[in-house]
Amino acid sequence: MGSSYSINSIASKISKCTACELHKNRTLTVPGHGHPKSKLMIIGEAPGNNEDKNGLPFIGRSGQILDNLLNSIGLDRTSIFITNMVKCRPPENRNPKSMEISQCSSFLDMQISAINPLVIITLGRLSLKKFLPDIPISKARGLVHQWNNYKIFPVYHPAAALYKPTLLPKMMDDFKKISFIINEFGN
Ligand code: SF4
Repeated sequence: MGSSYSINSIASKISKCTACELHKNRTLTVPGHGHPKSKLMIIGEAPGNNEDKNGLPFIGRSGQILDNLLNSIGLDRTSIFITNMVKCRPPENRNPKSMEISQCSSFLDMQISAINPLVIITLGRLSLKKFLPDIPISKARGLVHQWNNYKIFPVYHPAAALYKPTLLPKMMDDFKKISFIINEFGN
């Protein structure tokens, strides 16, 4: 499955979007970053303050944890694509509202279609909900699920490890499984 839009042209559309109220307070849109044909697509929740200022996803403390998790399985940002459910920062870093997620979802769908990844890793509860709305993250994490043509692999959000460091070993175990999945299904 492919998209008629490239990742760059989708980013250009996002940069002009005023579909939801999140556009009012943004500095920059944060469309996503990485390899446009990656086997691995990572979807978080929403940009934070650093991301809003720089237009890049996951560059704060959560991003450092994510980088460490990726490095632990021999990956880095050049080989994956990272984005969020919404492309503009919610005020005060609140969670994006359902309406905002739904108004931004066509961009995410276009990105999934353009990248056509082997595996989609969802970070946290809100991105899991798009694909598997009825399964709590505690039950869904660390397992491969099927959604349309894609394998979905939910993990906890890296920010959760900032507040609850005991989650980190579980996240490291989950990331180890990702390399097995790529090796098993990726060739
Ligand atoms: Fe548009 Fe998405 Fe930004 Fe809302 S969050 S203004 S839908 S790009």
